Formats: sequence, structure tokens, C-alpha cells
Amino acid sequence: LREVSRRLKSQLRSEGILARLGGDEFVVLLAGEHAERARFWADQILSAFAMPFKHDGLALDFGTSIGIALYPDNAQTGDDLMRFADMAMYSAKAQGRGHAVFFEARMGKEMAERVLLAERLRMALSYGGLQLHYQPEVDVKSARVVGVEALLRWHDPVLGNVSPARFIPVAEASGQIVALGNYVLDAACKQIDIWLKCGTPLRVAVNLSAYQLRQVNLVDQVRSCLQKHQVPPQWLELEVTESQAMINPDQGRQVLEDLAQLGVTIALDDFGTGHSSLAYLQYLPLQRVKLGREFLFSSPSRDRLMGGIVQMVHALDLEVVAEGVEQPDQLQLLRDVGCEFFQGWLHSQAMPAEQVQSWLAAA
Ligand code: C2E
Ligand code: MG
Ligand code: MG
Repeated sequence: LREVSRRLKSQLRSEGILARLGGDEFVVLLAGEHAERARFWADQILSAFAMPFKHDGLALDFGTSIGIALYPDNAQTGDDLMRFADMAMYSAKAQGRGHAVFFEARMGKEMAERVLLAERLRMALSYGGLQLHYQPEVDVKSARVVGVEALLRWHDPVLGNVSPARFIPVAEASGQIVALGNYVLDAACKQIDIWLKCGTPLRVAVNLSAYQLRQVNLVDQVRSCLQKHQVPPQWLELEVTESQAMINPDQGRQVLEDLAQLGVTIALDDFGTGHSSLAYLQYLPLQRVKLGREFLFSSPSRDRLMGGIVQMVHALDLEVVAEGVEQPDQLQLLRDVGCEFFQGWLHSQAMPAEQVQSWLAAA
């Protein structure tokens, strides 16, 4: 922190006012400047941090993100100015390190939306506005349902239906993801028990978020949830995405090993759509790899790519599940390339548990 302020000071010389807000956040107040000058100073500061810091013989490299708010265009009070600069900084952070971003009115709107969403989600969590729906996983050859994936559904009286793609990131940012994850685990285990007791046992796959993977007591939580509902572990599958597992590869692998030790199975979700570390794949304790629906979009090389991926996954002794199958020709392709399982609207959407049961009874 001392070295950072030293660099800031030497860059700004006697211009403006420099302060440390707390933590790793600094503020620079430049009076009587305009937008271009603010941009100039932001670039100066960014370049001041381009060189690594030398400390104890180590070269330390930090990311810098800058948010800029202008008086009087953006805000009339000091409080608003600080708040808006903060929002702009978050937007800069989202672009990765080394960016300076000016405040824009839409950032205020987006922030307000996220705050509202987080508030409504908190209410849904405590008053029971969330529900799990289940989408069948189907055997390509026999058309038999081999399991289901639990997918969160949220209907809010004010906001209407909110998709998980929208509220999961909000739950992560507002610290509610752990409570949400526990709710899902608990509801899924309860449902597994019900299906077992009805004589229609079904494997249930639950999605884990990156935050849950980093949670120190995740393994205990899964274990006690299984015990609470007296569910044999083989009926629970956990889905993680490769980017989650790779955030901290060694730690990710250790957590997955511990989970696998419990007897639950693990699937790699949305494989091949993020940054895949193929070399790493072989070390993870996986049963299945799920291919994102993007693989099924038509293109001249689609069939060959699918064939190659399926072969590669099989070479690692893993099963393949294709997601997002909507068209008969996509299912035919899965048959042709030897993909074992699929999920998708061609068979069925995610539906409430009771509906799954009557669906199975009718099949
Ligand atoms: P995912 O785990 O890859 O789930 C598959 C998504 O594809 C689901 O979207 C599902 O409804 C959708 N889908 C299934 N079949 C088709 C199809 O044929 N066509 C199309 N276009 N889409 C299909 P959904 O339910 O909106 O969930 C989106 C993502 O949100 C999930 O992706 C998962 O990453 C996350 N999510 C959902 N529930 C949970 C949860 O309980 N916990 C966590 N951490 N994440 C969840
Ligand atoms: Mg999934
Ligand atoms: Mg998926």
C-alpha cells in the first residue's frame, strides 16, 4: 500500500488530492479539469502500475481499475460523485485489469436493478418463492430416462419469472449463493428420497456455483444433507463447470476428490464452451462430461467436431451428455457419433417433480 501511494504521488506530483479510502481503494480528486484531462490522468496512473512491484526479491504484479465521475455532468454532490465513480470502477473491473471507465447513467440503472433483484431474492429465500424443476436426462439408444437435472425456478410477484442466468450472478455478488446452494441441495435430496420411496428412483444432478466450490465446508454440507434425508450418495450428482474447477486447479481438484469420496458422482458442465484445460481433464474425478448446446448449432464442421469430442471424452473413460437437443437431426447425430445421453426440449423441458412422476408413469 505504501508503494502504491508512492507511485500515485510521484505520478500526480502536486496535482489534485490523493486519498486512500480503505482496503485497496484510492481516490484522486482533480478540480477544474475536464473529461479529456481526466482520461489523461487515468492513463498516467494505469501506466504507473504497469511495472511490477519489487518486494523481498519478488516481482509483484497488480491489476488496476479506475472509475471516473465528473462534476457537474454526472453528479452534483460529493456523495453521488463518489458513488458513481465506484460504479464506474466496478464496470472497469468487469473488463479485466488495466481499464479506466467513465460513469454512464445506465450503470446507475443496472446497479439499482441488481439491488432490487438481490432484495427480492432474499425474500424469496426466506418465504419460499423458489422451486426446483427437473429436466430428464435420456439414454440416446433406449430413450429411457436415466436421471434428472435440478434447475432453479423463481417466480417473483413483482418481477415475474426471473431466469437463473440473471439471478445466480446476483446471488453470488450479494453473498446469498451459499444459502441458495444449500436450499437446492436440501430440496434435491428431499426429492431423491421421495422418488426412492415411491419405487421410481432417479439420479438427481445439482449445479454447484464457483462460490460453493470454494466454500470450506462444502463437503460436510453435502455429507450432512445426504444423511439428513437418508439418501444413498449414488443418487446425487454434482455438476461443476470447467472454469469453476480451474479457478484454482489444485484446490478444485481436491474438493472434487473429497466429494467423490462421499460416493456422489461428478459431471463437468458446459464442457468446451469456456477455457478448457484438456491436459487437466484427466486428473479430475469425473463420471460424465456435458456438452453445451452450442456444439449442436449447425455448421459445416459440426458433425466432425462432435465425433472428435465424443471420441476424446470416451478415451478418458467418461460418458457424454449432450445438452440442448431440440431437433430430430441433432438426436440422429448423437446416435451416429455414439453419444450416450442427452437433455433437451426435443424430449422435455424442466418440470415440477410431480410432473416428472406422471411423465415416467406414462412412458
Ligand atoms: P446448465 O446447468 O447448463 O443448464 C442447462 C440450461 O439449458 C437450463 O437453463 C435449461 O433449461 C436449458 N435447456 C435445456 N434444454 C434446452 C433446449 O433444448 N434448448 C435450450 N435453448 N435450452 C435448454 P436454465 O434453467 O435457464 O439454467 C441456466 C443456468 O443457470 C444453468 O445452466 C446453470 O448453470 C444455472 N443454474 C440453474 N439452476 C441452478 C442451481 O440450482 N444452482 C446453480 N449454482 N446454478 C444453477
Ligand atoms: Mg447444469
Ligand atoms: Mg450445461
